[in-house]
Amino acid sequence: MITPRWLYVLAAATGTRWGDPRIVDETLEQVDIGTIDPGDVVGIGIHTGNALRGYEIGREARQRGAWVVFGGIHPTLFPDEAATHGAAHSVVRGDGDVIWPQVIADCLAGRPQAIYDGGRIEADHFAAARWDLLPEGRYMWASVQTVRGCPKHCSFCSVWRTDGQEPRQRGVDRVIREIVELRRLGFRFIALADDNFYPVTFADLAQAKRRADGTWLRELETLRAERFELMARLAELPADLVFFTQITMEAAEDPAFLDAMRHAKIRGALVGVESVTTEGLKDVYKGFNLAGEDLVARLRAFRRHGVHVLGSFIFGLPSDTEHTFDATVALAERSDLTFAQFVLLTPFPGTVDFEKWAADENHRNATVDGLPLTEHWLIPEDRRPRLYTAHPTMSLEEIRLGTQRAWDRFYCWRYVWARSRVVKSFRARMAFVLISKLYRQMYANTGIATDSARVERSARWARWLGYACRRLFLGKPMPDLRIPGEQLAGTHTLS
Ligand code: SF4
Repeated sequence: MITPRWLYVLAAATGTRWGDPRIVDETLEQVDIGTIDPGDVVGIGIHTGNALRGYEIGREARQRGAWVVFGGIHPTLFPDEAATHGAAHSVVRGDGDVIWPQVIADCLAGRPQAIYDGGRIEADHFAAARWDLLPEGRYMWASVQTVRGCPKHCSFCSVWRTDGQEPRQRGVDRVIREIVELRRLGFRFIALADDNFYPVTFADLAQAKRRADGTWLRELETLRAERFELMARLAELPADLVFFTQITMEAAEDPAFLDAMRHAKIRGALVGVESVTTEGLKDVYKGFNLAGEDLVARLRAFRRHGVHVLGSFIFGLPSDTEHTFDATVALAERSDLTFAQFVLLTPFPGTVDFEKWAADENHRNATVDGLPLTEHWLIPEDRRPRLYTAHPTMSLEEIRLGTQRAWDRFYCWRYVWARSRVVKSFRARMAFVLISKLYRQMYANTGIATDSARVERSARWARWLGYACRRLFLGKPMPDLRIPGEQLAGTHTLS
């Protein structure tokens, strides 16, 4: 669906000294190990979910005489594991944008270090991606990052720990330049792949105002002004562009921000609703969200301002009951959500939840096929549990089935067709239906189902739907598209 941005950012960071890197995205096709030669540098980026496959590739690449380097969130947290299981020569922790060329040079000189600490680089140093290396026609959406880091501290999320709590915003000119390049190539749909597009809330500003020293307040006001500047510049880009981002629901209290989003053609946002009850929000340290009818009002505000919401909900929280599943779907419907996803509570490394879960003696001593449960990502996918924590009132199977039911209900034909009224023409409504079904196939059945035949069937459906939908997203390339700011500068010089 979406271009894996980091691959193309690291391709840019590689530079041209050694020629163009060969890029393999395994969501499209598997790497051909036979193409790896002795002395090659093989960089493997992984997250917790695909670490096992990454380690397999690492071992095979090393056997062929290549230098093997791991990077990404998971190796940042467990650098030793990449060496033990993935035959890594080196691990890059943190941001790779700046340190990557040094890693390659060291490998080619035959003396790679075991660990490189890329740290958290300043936004000015974020590399722009090498989009010229993209394979043609393989992706529906492009991706551009405008800010890294999130000031919140949700218990199930590792972003605030890995990317930091201080938002690092990229310069507006650099973001616009990259988007123009993508539109020139024919991409109309672009994900603003940010941790949190609304990094400064009214509550943050009020808190900063109470401080005697005005430094923090000025910093926040600058960040906020830069967001508005970015959105004003996005508004100048071709009208057929569609942006999508991730945001906290506090943005709904800020009509000026929502209006600016609409003008900027940011038509949709993933909002982490997580739970529809106050107890559930406490479970995940998300007290800044609202529950019940206040929640409905807040979510509807997005839609009123022309921003469609993909609501994300978590099931399996300690306060959930057997009624939570249906109540959540009903609330999602009443809140005018355009899309929704229902995920199972999973203790991912790097999160507060994981630390609490892994410290529990019952989990520490549990194994699956001799592998520790607290290293669940090393368990082969088909043997991996779908749920990891015993629930106080429901069996794990009840939670799994309730979650499946929520997906089935939210994406049943009747509801999807009714929601498709958000677009006008019959063709657009058909496209909406296809995309809704694609989303469900991609994320629901494959993530929750335990029946491997169903998983395989879903994956086939998703591939077919993806193929059918792909052309709906692409536009005619605009090779001559100018960068709005640069155009003005040129006019000024001439006059
Ligand atoms: S879940 Fe979202 S709001 Fe919470 S810390 Fe992670 S990125 Fe921030």
